[in-house]
Amino acid sequence: MIADPIRKLVIVGGGTAGWMAAAAISKIMGETGMRITLVESDEIGTVGVGEATIPQINLFNAMLELDEHDFVRATNATYKLGIEFVDWTRIGHRYVHPFGFYGINMKGVEFHHHWLKGRTLGDQTPLDAYSLSVVAGLAGKFEHPRPDQPNSPLAKVGYAYQFDAGLYARYLRRLAEHRGVERREGRIVDVAQHAETGFVEAVILQDGSRIEGDLFVDCSGFRGLLIEQTLGAGFEDWSSWLPCDRAFAVPCELGGDHQPLTRSTARSAGWQWRIPLQHRIGNGYVYSSAHISDDEAAATLLANLDGRPLAEPKQLRFTAGHRKQAWVKNVVALGLAGGFLEPLESTSIHLVQTGIARLMTLFPTRTINQVEIDRYNEQTAREYVDIRDFLVLHYKATERSDSPFWDYCRALAPPAALAEKLAMFRANGRIFREHEELFTETSWLAVMVGQGIEAGGYHPAADLLPDAETLARLRHIRAVIAETAQALPTQDAFLRAHGSWSGEVRRAS
Ligand code: FAD
Repeated sequence: MIADPIRKLVIVGGGTAGWMAAAAISKIMGETGMRITLVESDEIGTVGVGEATIPQINLFNAMLELDEHDFVRATNATYKLGIEFVDWTRIGHRYVHPFGFYGINMKGVEFHHHWLKGRTLGDQTPLDAYSLSVVAGLAGKFEHPRPDQPNSPLAKVGYAYQFDAGLYARYLRRLAEHRGVERREGRIVDVAQHAETGFVEAVILQDGSRIEGDLFVDCSGFRGLLIEQTLGAGFEDWSSWLPCDRAFAVPCELGGDHQPLTRSTARSAGWQWRIPLQHRIGNGYVYSSAHISDDEAAATLLANLDGRPLAEPKQLRFTAGHRKQAWVKNVVALGLAGGFLEPLESTSIHLVQTGIARLMTLFPTRTINQVEIDRYNEQTAREYVDIRDFLVLHYKATERSDSPFWDYCRALAPPAALAEKLAMFRANGRIFREHEELFTETSWLAVMVGQGIEAGGYHPAADLLPDAETLARLRHIRAVIAETAQALPTQDAFLRAHGSWSGEVRRAS
């Protein structure tokens, strides 16, 4: 029996991060008898615009034993097979970063080397044609992966969701409260620390009540109430690599297509997201305030909606980067309290998820060990660096020269690891996934090729296939993908067939 277990855990904040933490920790640790309290303030509210996810969220939902169709219905969710990038490489160009795979490896050589070889033989078919996620996504089709059909391209399709983040938090709140998490409403106005150690002992609410804890999870949003304002963890500022520092977000009525894709359209000083849900579309313009005025950014966003706006645009301000230490003393920061990387690849909710997983792995006793804190912080920082590099790739690898913003991005000196990845690909099309980093070879390939990085050669073993055979197999693979996509149901039909349609649809008038 552990002598000094954590008996009281306090989660500060009830946004997506707070309720994800509450639902997961109560599920995993609930039966240890640990008391979990979540404090939030309706008066302060939440950011609530995190709407697009990546496939790893399925692992989180499965751990919570969520029923997918119930969750989809409850959060007005749609499916997501990837992200379509419009006007990033040059105006008029588009490509999709899909979840899943391209083609099939042949002769022990990754598919894309055969594709690169095909190009040298005159086959200019884009990479997109070899991904079922792309072809189905663009056609508005969706189906679950079919691992029971190993020879079908459907076997290894990955998928995620686009959902109403406020409804997701509410959904998780129900689960967490059911498992005994106590919710306290109120604004925290003070923090009590141990006089010698500086450990946080309690948070004090406006009404004077004191909530004590052994361990605190700071999910208080950008302010970082405990991790920064109380403990001064420090911030690693990456705005020179990722200059966008503001966003306007606005929902609009449904309109346009029903593709199971998030869309990111590059604009003169940043980019605009389009996230279609069942009942509305989430939109936002992420921009660099050094390159465009707030008024112009808001006007650009409102001029580029598929339906009538449903609210006034809401402005958010941020700095790209993360806390130098995500865990200090007895405080662990999750969500926006821990850091922020713009939602270009929908990674914020995922970072909450991995932060929770890491905390579960290193869950402390009241004798908190620095060696465990160091491991947590080192892994967290590594994860942020990897994602940062992938995001910077989108800005760096552009041909756009139509605005000072894009001139700045094109001229960026890439971080060292990204520079090496670019050089490896430019030489002979080689891609390596480092130390289990989040983005796979498929992702790096999608964005490097999508953004016009040319490989100078291909793996010599691709020549084990005679030229004619390479071209014939490429033709066959894309034909199979086209036929498979053709046979899939539309996303709307899929949602209805599985009882996942929320029924709250408002059509554009
Ligand atoms: P918040 O939502 O800010 O919640 C903070 C909580 O702390 C609130 O409950 C608040 O009441 C409470 N609180 C704060 N101070 C006090 C106090 N003094 N007393 C009591 N309570 C307090 N993520 C994605 O994965 N995909 C996306 O597409 C995506 N898009 C985004 C777009 C933008 C422009 C931004 C800014 C973020 C986006 N995110 C996205 C990130 C996502 O919104 C956040 O990661 C997610 O919502 C988690 O937020 P949070 O819970 O950390 O913070």
